[in-house]
Amino acid sequence: MNAPASTPTVFDVQRIRADFPLLSRTVHGKPLVYFDNANTSQKPLSVIEAMNAHYRQHNANVSRAVHLLGEEATAAYEGARDKLAQFINAPSRNELILTSGTTQATNLVAYSYALPRLKPGDAILTTVMEHHANIVPWQLVAGRAGATVKAAPINQRGELIVEQYIAMLTPEVKLACVTQVSNVLGTVNPVREIARECKKRGIPLLVDGSQAVPHRPVDVQALGCDFYALTGHKMLGPTGTGALWAKREHLEAMPPFFGGGEMIREVRFEGTTFAEVPHKFEAGTPNIAGFVGLAAAIDYYQSVGFDAIHAWEQQLLAYATERLSEIPGLRIVGEAAEKEAVISFLIEGAQATDLATLLDLQGVAVRSGHHCAHPLMQFFGVPSTLRASLAFYNTREEVDEFIVALLKVRKLLM
Ligand code: PMP
Repeated sequence: MNAPASTPTVFDVQRIRADFPLLSRTVHGKPLVYFDNANTSQKPLSVIEAMNAHYRQHNANVSRAVHLLGEEATAAYEGARDKLAQFINAPSRNELILTSGTTQATNLVAYSYALPRLKPGDAILTTVMEHHANIVPWQLVAGRAGATVKAAPINQRGELIVEQYIAMLTPEVKLACVTQVSNVLGTVNPVREIARECKKRGIPLLVDGSQAVPHRPVDVQALGCDFYALTGHKMLGPTGTGALWAKREHLEAMPPFFGGGEMIREVRFEGTTFAEVPHKFEAGTPNIAGFVGLAAAIDYYQSVGFDAIHAWEQQLLAYATERLSEIPGLRIVGEAAEKEAVISFLIEGAQATDLATLLDLQGVAVRSGHHCAHPLMQFFGVPSTLRASLAFYNTREEVDEFIVALLKVRKLLM
């Protein structure tokens, strides 16, 4: 539940902000207010420096070289896998496939898990509130197999209608998917309950954790899902990093998706044998420096602590929601009972893109558009929304500056 806006807890946000070099820059001559965190987060110095140190001191390819640099690079890369596994409480580090992000993770499941199993008449279940990364890969493989993609509905507050999701878990459904947190609405979905229902019916569940991991501690074992996809750049890490966690039984049964170096045991023209999981899914040279940075991002989260992060973000969410609600003609899209600090909204008589462009001139970075969620826009009957997405390094003062800027640009467009 959201904390009341009037009772801020002590949280040294200025000390935290000092760790993020980009936050002190100006934009169009104005101090930056960065409220586009659901798109990508900013990076603390420790992440930037970890990558810098990797290239300055340890750069080599992984898993191949016997020289010291190769050993150091391999240890750093595999150390990131350990850290990520521990971060989401995976039962084993070997169940964690390092990917370029959530998109690669969902595509891996689509082509390597779903496609070989799907038969004509089968279905994959997703929801109306998903990011395209949790819709389009399913459509691509369903189309090849003569299967379909079904979407569970949501209500006007932007909450999943869980009874209907459960009712749609019929025998032809071979994979169920849901986002833990909506990138547009901030809605937190009841993943544990959904996972319980999937389990009863023997249907594997994939959870898109892209927007959950930056805000709350994740425990894939407690969630009870089969697959969990995440992306690194929204959680203080570099772009081009992410992961798929999957239960070992699924990974063992899945054929490799990409072929090439690093994923084989022996290659012969008569037939090739593959490396053990997770390596059979990691063909080619990975983003070694990126994962060094992601490991530093996890250290950073752990040094601040998710209790403090979540409490602060919930205060900011409550405060920003309260301030936005004072603006005449403003409608918040997404009013779920449980939300992360993401607020989509519309202002009567003004285009979202015009507002975002003018806000940028005031130093305020928000996103406008469909947020890679066309079906959700269709549900609400709008082409786009404006989205302010907050992080734990944002402040109440920035919310105030955002509101002042919004009132100003609204006036210009009226
Ligand atoms: N799912 C959700 C909910 C997202 O917000 C995003 C990123 N906007 C993605 C998936 C895709 O992540 P990436 O582009 O990093 O693969």
